[in-house]
This record gives sequence, structure tokens and C-alpha cells, in this order.
Amino acid sequence: MEVTRQKVDNLRIQQMTAQRMLKGDVPDEDLEQYVQERLLFTTLEKAQNWARANAVWPATFGLACCAIEMISVIGSPRNDLSRFGAEVSRASPRQADMLILSGRVSIKMAPVIRRLYDQMLEPKWVISMGACASSAGMFNNYALVAGADRFLPIDIYIPGCPPRPEALMYGIIKLQKKILDHPDLGWRERYKAQGTEERA
Ligand code: SF4
Repeated sequence: MEVTRQKVDNLRIQQMTAQRMLKGDVPDEDLEQYVQERLLFTTLEKAQNWARANAVWPATFGLACCAIEMISVIGSPRNDLSRFGAEVSRASPRQADMLILSGRVSIKMAPVIRRLYDQMLEPKWVISMGACASSAGMFNNYALVAGADRFLPIDIYIPGCPPRPEALMYGIIKLQKKILDHPDLGWRERYKAQGTEERA
């Protein structure tokens, strides 16, 4: 990195100002300006959401062929999901924040998925990955649930069969934005999805 003369001068000026401040030599108006330039106001809620958005840990969980594509995102250095703080996959739903439905949902599997969801602690998020999880896709038959949002609140839908790794990453970035903007989670009442956490 090139260090210009101006940057070095600015650093020296800042160091001298800090030294004068420590001695109490800085006039009040300069001190006030110095503090205003460096203060960052936020709310506890925003700080919480910022931390949550940048540490969305997925549950180790796959359903069908989409899971292979998901593994290539979560487990591969090529895509490096740690850039978004979402690379720490958890084997227990109690430690996970995000459920990625990666594949078709059979009717037999639906209650199991719902149980896993209920075991996750709030706040929790669900991504429906691929055509099958969102609408049963090409397996539109009696054995499958035609859309996981029939029994679970879904936050993000990702189209594709399977979605490319970039699409999944884009979905996770969208989810981060949703968490940062603090969506009203009241709509989950429709699914009776609040306060259902199982306690060990
Ligand atoms: S969307 Fe395509 S890749 Fe994904 S589970 Fe369905 S058939 Fe498999």
C-alpha cells in the first residue's frame, strides 16, 4: 500500500491533537468537534441485528440433490461463506439460526422438519432452496408437500433446479439485509411459529 505524504501528515496531526487533549490543552470547541467526528450513535437493537446478520449459522441438514449444491457453498473454500459469517454449520438445531431446505420435502419428512424448526431458538430463519422446496418442482405428486411454506414460515425463496452456489449466496445476502432492516416477525403467528421452542 502506498503511504502518501498527506496521510503521514494527517496521522502526525492526529497524534499531536491526542497528546494535547490528554494534557487538557485543547479548546472546548475543538474538543467538541473532535468528539462529534468520532462518535457513532446506534441503538442496542440495531447493534443486535448487525451481529445477528453477520453470524447466521446454518443447521447441518440436507434433503435431496439441492443439498449437494449447498454443501459446495457451505463447505468449500472456493465460495468462502465465511465472508458473510455463515460458514459455521451446526449439527444441533438448538445452536443454529438458519435452516436451509435444500431439496424436495416429502410428506413423511414434513413433521420432522417442523420439529427441527421448533427446536431452534429465536430469532431463526428459513431459506427455501430450489424449486422442489418452494413448490415440489418436477416431483409434483402425492408423496411431496407442494411448498414448504404450507407448514413453516419461509424467509427467502431461491429459484433453480438446483440453484447455483452464487444464487444461494445471494439468498443469504438478502437474508442478511432482511435481518438488518428488522422485519416485523408478526406474520409468523400465521404458522404458530413463535414461542414453540422446545427447551431441553
Ligand atoms: S430443485 Fe432440482 S436439484 Fe433441487 S431437489 Fe429438486 S430436483 Fe433436486
